[in-house]
Amino acid sequence: MMRQTYELINLKKLENNIKTIVNSSKEYKYHIAVVKANCYGLGIKCVKSILLGGANYLAVSSLDEALKVRKITDTRILVLEPIDTKYINIANKNNITLTISSLEYLNKVKNKIFTCHLKINTGMNRLGIGTKEELNEIYKIINESNIKIEGIYTHIYKSTDSTLTESQFKRFENITSDINLSKIEIVHIPNSDTITNYKKKDYVNGCRMGIIMYGFNNKLALNSVFTLKSKIIEIKEIKKDETVGYDGKYKANKDEYIGIVPIGYADGIIRKNTGRFVYINNNKYKIVGNICMDMLFVLIDKTVKVNDTVEIIKDNQHINEIAEHLETINYEVMCDVSSRVDRKYIEE
Ligand SMILES: *Cc1c(COP(=O)(O)O)cnc(C)c1O
Repeated sequence: MMRQTYELINLKKLENNIKTIVNSSKEYKYHIAVVKANCYGLGIKCVKSILLGGANYLAVSSLDEALKVRKITDTRILVLEPIDTKYINIANKNNITLTISSLEYLNKVKNKIFTCHLKINTGMNRLGIGTKEELNEIYKIINESNIKIEGIYTHIYKSTDSTLTESQFKRFENITSDINLSKIEIVHIPNSDTITNYKKKDYVNGCRMGIIMYGFNNKLALNSVFTLKSKIIEIKEIKKDETVGYDGKYKANKDEYIGIVPIGYADGIIRKNTGRFVYINNNKYKIVGNICMDMLFVLIDKTVKVNDTVEIIKDNQHINEIAEHLETINYEVMCDVSSRVDRKYIEE
């Protein structure tokens, strides 16, 4: 942890976000925190704060992730993707809940002992059981097996479109119409945006919190929870018409100051970040020239000094601006910060 570049995560603010979310959605009995991809890149250390905040179930995307999370908590954990059938016993031994997303998959694992949630495909066409017939057959097989059904769920893929989203709920109701949903402990559908933008359905008792935990939501007063920081390690005074960096990509149109910052594309700051802003002493400065593997250039002014802190990512509003510049989404900006970058945690 000797590098001047690191991500700073505020665990108290994270915990408070979860409290706010859980308090504002008490109609849900199960608040499943989706802590996949090391908590969207912020690090598995966040799991404890998320649980302190009131999440009462966890979800991840692979068995490897589940086993890492299992080391720090006894809270139930669901794997959202079907795992390699070779490892069902390991999952069961570690009290990891699995997803059954097709009849074909079930047929390969029906002789094993484990707990599962059924995944229904209601239009995203990624994973899931797509028809009533398939679900009924799955039910029949599971009834004659040692598999326990603990939950059932589907995933909303465009919550900004309420017509589409309501039709997903309808499809869920249709596909499950022959089974008694009230007999299943956890019926969970909403993801982050759906929690605050849609009324809870009677048959649903769980929701899955993802990016909302990190403060991305317009309806609740939530905190940004992290910044990505670095420092000015050197300053170059350049003359008009001099260039900066590989290929001389940036050319000064007058005498200028360039700050050198030790973060680059190996840290996840891809070259497309050129042209967007960073913050130094709360002022905006532009990244110029080609970003290197380990360093980048910022067009600064006389007020900036060596050792000044550079906020490569300042807060959630900045993340949204960066996402726009990169023509992507805030999720990707979070996950892009590579594992080379140290994660440091403060408890306020
Ligand atoms: C990633 C994921 C979530 C969380 O999504 P957010 O949009 O971050 O809330 C929920 N459910 C499933 C199935 C996911 O894969």
